[in-house]
Amino acid sequence: PVQFYPQRRETRSTCCYCGVGCGVIITTEGKQIVDVKGDPEHPANFGRLCTKGSTLHLTAKLDARALHPEVRLSRDLPRERVTWDSALDHVVDRFADIIQTHGPDAVAFYISGQLLTEDYYVFNKLAKGLIGTNNVDTNSRLCMSSAVAGYKVTLGADAPPACYEDIDHTQCLLIAGSNTAFAHPIVFRRIEDAKANNPDMKIIVVDPRRTDTAQFADLHLAILPGTDVALFHGMLHVMLWEGLLDMAYIRNHTEGFEALKETVREYTPKMVADICGIREADIIQAAKWFGAGPTLSMYCMGLNQSIHGTDKNAALINLHLATGQIGKPGAGPFSLTGQPNAMGGREVGGMANLLSGHRDLANAEHRAEVARLWGVPDVPASPGKTAVEMFDAVNSGEIKAIWIACTNPAHSMPDLNNVLASLQNAELVVLQDAFNNTDSNQYADVFLPASTWGEKEGTVTNSERRITRVRPAAPKPGEARHDWEAVVDFAQRLEQKLGKTSTLFNYPNTETIFNEHRESTRGRDLDITGLSYKILEAQGPQQWPFKDGASSGEARLYTDGIFQKPGGKAQFHNAVYKATADKTDARHPFHLLTGRLRDQWHGMSRTGTLAQLYNHAEEPVVSMHADDMQRRQIKNGDIVKISNKRGSLTIKVQQSDEVKPAELFIPMHWGRQFMHGLGVNALMPPAFDKTSKQPELKHTAVKIEKRTLP
Ligand code: SF4
Repeated sequence: PVQFYPQRRETRSTCCYCGVGCGVIITTEGKQIVDVKGDPEHPANFGRLCTKGSTLHLTAKLDARALHPEVRLSRDLPRERVTWDSALDHVVDRFADIIQTHGPDAVAFYISGQLLTEDYYVFNKLAKGLIGTNNVDTNSRLCMSSAVAGYKVTLGADAPPACYEDIDHTQCLLIAGSNTAFAHPIVFRRIEDAKANNPDMKIIVVDPRRTDTAQFADLHLAILPGTDVALFHGMLHVMLWEGLLDMAYIRNHTEGFEALKETVREYTPKMVADICGIREADIIQAAKWFGAGPTLSMYCMGLNQSIHGTDKNAALINLHLATGQIGKPGAGPFSLTGQPNAMGGREVGGMANLLSGHRDLANAEHRAEVARLWGVPDVPASPGKTAVEMFDAVNSGEIKAIWIACTNPAHSMPDLNNVLASLQNAELVVLQDAFNNTDSNQYADVFLPASTWGEKEGTVTNSERRITRVRPAAPKPGEARHDWEAVVDFAQRLEQKLGKTSTLFNYPNTETIFNEHRESTRGRDLDITGLSYKILEAQGPQQWPFKDGASSGEARLYTDGIFQKPGGKAQFHNAVYKATADKTDARHPFHLLTGRLRDQWHGMSRTGTLAQLYNHAEEPVVSMHADDMQRRQIKNGDIVKISNKRGSLTIKVQQSDEVKPAELFIPMHWGRQFMHGLGVNALMPPAFDKTSKQPELKHTAVKIEKRTLP
């Protein structure tokens, strides 16, 4: 029988989980989201969704939603429900007082790659344009900043040159530091399809673990943790001797090859095999497949979350430049973004070292351009604090107030005990979030309830530079507000408090914010001056650049071999291999690796509340090799304590041949809300890459002790 639903309607939007950026169609009955399916017309997924995306509608009914603003006036008291007026006036008073007493750098904003581009834009303008501090950084610092730095040092711009369609055109796919099968499942479906259609296509996976992605590969290079630069240099060495380089491309489109050639001369297959713990023959095979091309590389946290993340990214890009595998179908270095809008945040300069339109804070001309755009006297030149530096500065008292939006640093930062101490020591912690079940919640003096997926409006940009509209399918619950609305309201109140007679924040809707952002890109590498909400409505998701007068965006970059470096030539990056921050020794003999599971997302505030998403992995475990278990008389299911100088956690052991002897793996999802004690990030070092400032969240050295239950 036909069933009639009152006010049943469908809304096109975007999945909020990962950087693949799949299009979704949300079904709503009345005010309630009741279903979600893949958008068959979206070029990222063509109708497919992974387990996380296909259960999104169930997360729209969660109990863990925050519905009202709350404030506590003293740490001894619980937070109490207040009105938005009261909450924002309180924050304005405290911020104004701190700024007037200690200067603008005594406040900070820590935001998120899950915010929409429009949210990001106004947060950035609030900090750098109105308050006058560059202390605005984001959890994308933990995710993508080494990829940004890698592109900039080699190609001159933070612009991924390839697109998803290149998967169908490549003959060699090199996946490095990415368990694509779990972390970017719909991209992996496309890889499976491409391999099925073209069995001759070679897939090389570089990963210390034998992940699901690695098991699918023709060649798995199970390198020792952190040895990626040595491997890439070794491959270049082989390509040199085998005559696989494109010397004309090197001559016409690059600089710095001779110096790099001198460096890689000593990276013989024998030496690299010893450093990486793999076979010489496999290095030679990988080099030959890569050199034959067309070659596409895809990479993620395994390269980025490292104290040498910039060098790792750039060493891989070197291979593309040396073989001319860039700017043509099926070729190019393609960084996968972890979060749904890490790319959009970079576009609006929502990081401590960036400015709108891919401008650099360190560049005086760029600061002047942005100041003109915003109508402010200047943008301060002093560098802002990046993620790890920011929480250190809160701990030392240099930063007194921190506003955290849409992220959970009490779970996701390295060296968590230090971060928790800093949140306790802060004079004021403002938390703006849709959920009240995060580890950061208990530290908030002011809680501002935010809207979330299914309710928000704006745009996001996925890994392939594709901008998609995010549309509301249901009203915000309770008194929740959109993130941009809360920022604009706060900014206008702060302007009044500071005696300003006009506002920099005259935005009646997200479209007006988008239009200002669009203008900031004029003449830049990501120029979207030809794009508008109207065009996105009419033509669907579009890639940047999309210049004024263009009829579509550009699928690939650098097709003409002209790069954003002086003289238009790309720059080879000449680095040497260096070890991880923490090294194993007799006291800490195990490499502890972290990563993601298929059905969980970040700190589980959304996915952790759905029973069906535990079918794949029902509890946190440490994966351990059978040889190590036998040597230490540990059985499957035994409880062990894993520790180093920063902390410890108690966890069940699971035998696994995904890890090698002397390696352990723990997923990063479980934190204090979902297990006893802090999650694995408590053990991770706060050390970070000196260029990208991205911390080494992937690796530390630990000891393991068997626990006997009383
Ligand atoms: Fe969402 Fe990523 Fe899954 Fe696509 S692949 S449905 S964007 S989680």
